[in-house]
Amino acid sequence: MDSENELGTVLSVTGLCTYFFTKKGIVKAVDNVSFDVRKGEIMCIVGESGSGKTVTALSLLRLVEHPGRIVEGKIMFDGKNLLDLTLREMRDIRGKKIAMIFQDPHSSLDPVFTIGEQIAEAMTAHKGITKGEAKARVYELLKLVDIPEPERRFHEYPHQFSGGMKQRVMIAMALSCKPLILIADEPTSSLDVTIQALILDMFIELRKKFNMAIIYITHDLWVIRYISDRVAVMYLGIIVESADKKEIFENPLHPYTQALLSSLPGKKGRILLKGEVPSPVNPPEGCRFHSRCPKRFDRCEKIEPEMKEVVSGHFVMCHLYS
Ligand code: SF4
Repeated sequence: MDSENELGTVLSVTGLCTYFFTKKGIVKAVDNVSFDVRKGEIMCIVGESGSGKTVTALSLLRLVEHPGRIVEGKIMFDGKNLLDLTLREMRDIRGKKIAMIFQDPHSSLDPVFTIGEQIAEAMTAHKGITKGEAKARVYELLKLVDIPEPERRFHEYPHQFSGGMKQRVMIAMALSCKPLILIADEPTSSLDVTIQALILDMFIELRKKFNMAIIYITHDLWVIRYISDRVAVMYLGIIVESADKKEIFENPLHPYTQALLSSLPGKKGRILLKGEVPSPVNPPEGCRFHSRCPKRFDRCEKIEPEMKEVVSGHFVMCHLYS
């Protein structure tokens, strides 16, 4: 099988469950999550902290650390279930076919190696190219992410780069093997707004240039509106709604999505949610959102809603639409 199917799906996640086995109990950080990612699209996963979006991203690359474990599900990529691969096979996928950029560029770069060495290392580890070829390619990549004077910058160390520049280096590193999918976990949240916009523009441009899919994790609605093609909304370990950007912003169906979007500037009738997000150790029975939902009714506390396709391509998990 090719790395994409006839619908252009490059990654298909079904029933993914990632739990953390802690002394306090089992934290169901990701619980029966399913979604597809299509070639060349930017898919945003949005949710509050603790909603499971980062654990979902880490699960895709099997980078979840102890006491976490993927207990169920399928992650189909390039005709294979990533959960069936050996660690060695998985290492070949990471960085080469699916790359990831983390939130904090400062801790992702090694202070004792030059920027150039670190990007070249990412390539020579995967592609079997010579050091000379790698160096020439690093210059190209640094230019691509708008770092001026790449020949000089190659020999500099991370502390000589600003936060925005470091994140560009991380992007260059992630692109070095021309991945089919780039996972970006809040990559701009530590940067100021102007730099953020420049980096987002860079993502949009690079995805076109490389025709790669981007899974973009964020809690920031402004970022989603700016960058996404499709959006999946997570709450307490599950996806509660997914649709393309226009549908989500113009016709949000799930009461949680409606509350999130009501906080955008210019929106009338802000919906303030009461209470805290419940503990994922003991998620509420029935609909997980019922303890905070302004529209709940009898059935919500007892029966878990199923995911329904309400409008073509617009999925929602809520009894109001069943
Ligand atoms: Fe609210 Fe009920 Fe829908 Fe859950 S199922 S989001 S509690 S209306």
